[in-house]
Amino acid sequence: MAVALIVAAGSGERLGAGRPKALVELAGRPLLAWSVETLSAIAAIEQIVVAMPAGASAPDGTVGVTGGASRSESVRHALEAADPAEVVLVHDAARPLLTGALAEEVLAALGEDPGAAAAIAAAPVTDTIKRAGRDGGTVIETLDRRELWAVQTPQVFRRAALARALDVESEMLAQASDDAWLIERAGGRVIVVPGSAENLKITTRVDLRLAELLLAERERGGA
Ligand code: C5P
Repeated sequence: MAVALIVAAGSGERLGAGRPKALVELAGRPLLAWSVETLSAIAAIEQIVVAMPAGASAPDGTVGVTGGASRSESVRHALEAADPAEVVLVHDAARPLLTGALAEEVLAALGEDPGAAAAIAAAPVTDTIKRAGRDGGTVIETLDRRELWAVQTPQVFRRAALARALDVESEMLAQASDDAWLIERAGGRVIVVPGSAENLKITTRVDLRLAELLLAERERGGA
C-alpha cells in the first residue's frame, strides 16, 4: 500500500492571481481538487496528505499540514504526518492534469524494480537544450536531446529512502527542484517512466488556459 503527498503550499506569484496557486480555479474547481480526485480513485493509495498554505484548510477526505519554506520542506512536513506505508507518491498540486493511469504506471515501475529507490514521471525533451551562463550569454555546450527528460510528478519513493534524503539542512532542501535529486545525490537509483507532456505544470495564465482546453477535450472523450 502507498500514501500520497500533494504539495500545494506554494505562493504561485507568477500566476498573478492574488491567492495561492493551488487554490486558483481551473474549469470551476481549485487546481488542487483535480489531483485529489485522481489520486483518491487509486486503490493502492490508502491516504492523501496535503501540504497547504498557512491558514488554508485541506480538501475533505485528506489530511492537511502546513507547508514549509521550500517545496521539499513541504514534502518533509507531509511525510511526517503520513501513515506508515512503505511506498510514498509525491505530486505537485500545480499538475492538475495527472491521470490515474500515469500514477499507476509510476507506482508499478518502482514495484517491479526492487533495487530502485524511486521512479519518476518524465516527458522526452523536444526542444534543443543548450547550457549557457545563468543570464544567457555565450553557449557552453549543446546537450544530446535523446538523453534528456523533462521531469514531472508523480514521483514514487521507498519511504525509508525518501525520509533519509529529506533529513538534511533546509538550505539543501531549498536547492532541490525535485525530490528525486535528493535521492540521486545520496547515491540512490532513480528510474524514469516516460509520460506525456499533457501532465503540464501550471505556472502562467497561458498554462491555465491550455489546461482548460485539454480538460474540455477529455470531457468530450477526446483523450
Ligand atoms: O513553485 P513551483 O511551481 O515549482 O511549485 C511546485 C509545487 O510545490 C506546487 O504545487 C507548490 O504549491 C508546491 N510548493 C509547496 N511549498 C513551497 C513551494 C512550493 O508546497 N514552499
